[in-house]
Amino acid sequence: MPTPAAPASPASPGDLLVDTHGRVHRDLRISLTDRCSLRCTYCMPEQGNEWLARSSILTLDEIEQIARVAAADGITTFRLTGGEPLLRPDIVEVVARLAAITGPDGRGVEIAMTTNGIRLREVLPGLIGAGLSRLNISLDTLRRDRFHELTRRDRLDDVLDGIAAAAESGLRPLKLNAVAMRDVNDDELADLVEFAIGHGAEMRFIEQMPLDAGHTWDRSRMVTQDEILAALAARWRLTAVPGRGGAPAARWLIDDGPTAVGVIASVTAPFCGDCDRLRLTADGQLRNCLFSTTEYDLVPILRSQEPAETGVDGSIDRMLRDCVRGKLPGHAINDPAFLQPARGMNAIGG
Ligand code: SAM
Ligand code: SF4
Repeated sequence: MPTPAAPASPASPGDLLVDTHGRVHRDLRISLTDRCSLRCTYCMPEQGNEWLARSSILTLDEIEQIARVAAADGITTFRLTGGEPLLRPDIVEVVARLAAITGPDGRGVEIAMTTNGIRLREVLPGLIGAGLSRLNISLDTLRRDRFHELTRRDRLDDVLDGIAAAAESGLRPLKLNAVAMRDVNDDELADLVEFAIGHGAEMRFIEQMPLDAGHTWDRSRMVTQDEILAALAARWRLTAVPGRGGAPAARWLIDDGPTAVGVIASVTAPFCGDCDRLRLTADGQLRNCLFSTTEYDLVPILRSQEPAETGVDGSIDRMLRDCVRGKLPGHAINDPAFLQPARGMNAIGG
């Protein structure tokens, strides 16, 4: 008779964050605010947002404390997002404090940011000086009237200026993100790729996901990865780039490269099997998936007057492990019983 396997020894601080499906977690997405300077239709309602109470938003010290524990447990990338991360008044200080964190091997962490680009020219030198490593800027259309309709704000010039500042800065890789939408911007896909190439950036198209605060997502209206590739293949020869690892975007070289284009096909070609991401909301909730309906509340740990015996760091470590242990093998967007999370994308952190 085979000997029964010994029970796995309990994880302790410093062990990697490995889930029950063997996925090692390396990337923590930190939402800095649920507020935004735009109101993209696929993300937020035009009016009637229920904003997080300001007192519930994590302070810089609280974010740093969580990040230190996460880095000790093997997280190597912090991606700052929101809402709009540049609305946070202490954004340069956030980057500086997180960039100073090192992992158990003494190696520094990588600080990435996803932004709509508004205010970027003004703060970019400070961000780079503070240690920002990478930028993704969202740009769904090059047409001012469309931009206004889609984001409910007439701010395309500010976004383009932010992208120009990023291009001039030399910070690379620089990525531009667009949600592809039927009858909204699906006639601009190749133009967006041309624009990205002209700015030394890589264009990435995202399949629209059911994460809008208004719960109006309609699968039949979604532009699929196949449709995106077909539109681009009409202009360029595309060659798949192998070795994607845990990255959400699959990539194709354009006319043999070196430029590439990416597609994030969360709906038609889910990449959950290689997911290495965790999320922290602006109000201190850990999430193991964009689509999860369970959150792990760090606030009582951070703000309790009587910290647990294990200390605050020990309790954060334990909650990171509980969150990772609870991760399902994949999201269920394609399941008829799928339930959209209560929070919109701006409050989860994209
Ligand atoms: N405000 C910043 C921005 O727009 O880049 C950062 C936060 S935003 C939530 C992060 C990314 O999520 C953006 O690239 C946005 O296009 C994407 N996003 C938002 N809602 C989405 C949805 N329903 N489906 C797919 N992508 C979405
Ligand atoms: Fe704001 Fe980004 Fe959401 Fe657009 S996608 S409303 S820019 S948080």
